Amino acid sequence: MKKNIWSGASVLLAFLFLSSAHSQFPAVELEIVRVNDDMYVIHNEFVPGNVTALITDEGVLLVDAKFEANYERMMELLGTVTDQPVRYVINTHYHSDHSGGNALFKMIGAEIVASEQARYRMVDDNLPGLPNFTLEEYARIHIGGKVVEMYYFGAAHTDGDVVVYFPEYRTLAAGDMFTYGDATPQLIDYRGGGNATAWTKTLDGVLQLGFETVIPGHGEITTKAEMQNFRESTVRLRTRVREMSRQGSSREEIAAMLRDEYHWQDLMMDMGLDGILAEMR
Ligand SMILES: [Zn+2]
Repeated sequence: MKKNIWSGASVLLAFLFLSSAHSQFPAVELEIVRVNDDMYVIHNEFVPGNVTALITDEGVLLVDAKFEANYERMMELLGTVTDQPVRYVINTHYHSDHSGGNALFKMIGAEIVASEQARYRMVDDNLPGLPNFTLEEYARIHIGGKVVEMYYFGAAHTDGDVVVYFPEYRTLAAGDMFTYGDATPQLIDYRGGGNATAWTKTLDGVLQLGFETVIPGHGEITTKAEMQNFRESTVRLRTRVREMSRQGSSREEIAAMLRDEYHWQDLMMDMGLDGILAEMR
């Protein structure tokens, strides 16, 4: 079986390969940033993904879990803002820079929640800490007087991406169907069921929700307008690849365009180039 390089320990190698500027990983600096009253993001540059924390008097709900190696530091940072236990961890998708902490969170009694497709991918990749709750299209968690809504609108970065909407805060945790900043462009995980055409349809569904603030899968906290821009950029990327492909451009020329205009690095190329060439033929 071909192993997904964005999952498991090999993501670490891919990461080190990507940029010497980030070669301090996995001793990556985490920080906890307040989004509003009861909501925080445990943030770092680039990889692993953002973790959103909702603090309530019935416990803490997290969206995503970074790598297993980040668990202790995450708990330390959470301890600076609450003494409540972690009760839920929602995985936006199966990649281990978002689900790697699952097994350790399970050991302290947290329930792990993901889409059925994401769970399937985790089983397929032998990832530890499998979700014990799954959803197909929609589910809610009620905790500490707050409602947390999870939506599955279709494939995007993978075929198991869910977004988590916090209506009281008009805030969305988007997972990797929206990454923000040049360092983390669209990564289309074709092996994991990702697809560039489905991606923008899925974003169209998400953009109907009433949020204003967005916590991207990777990158700084931002706005719905930036998510809209990301959607447009994904449409342009698709159009560019299709046009070049129809004009007879070579694989190398298209790769160079993706590198120059869309900041694709080796990781995006390895996971997405063959797929987008086939999809946009
Ligand atoms: Zn991912």
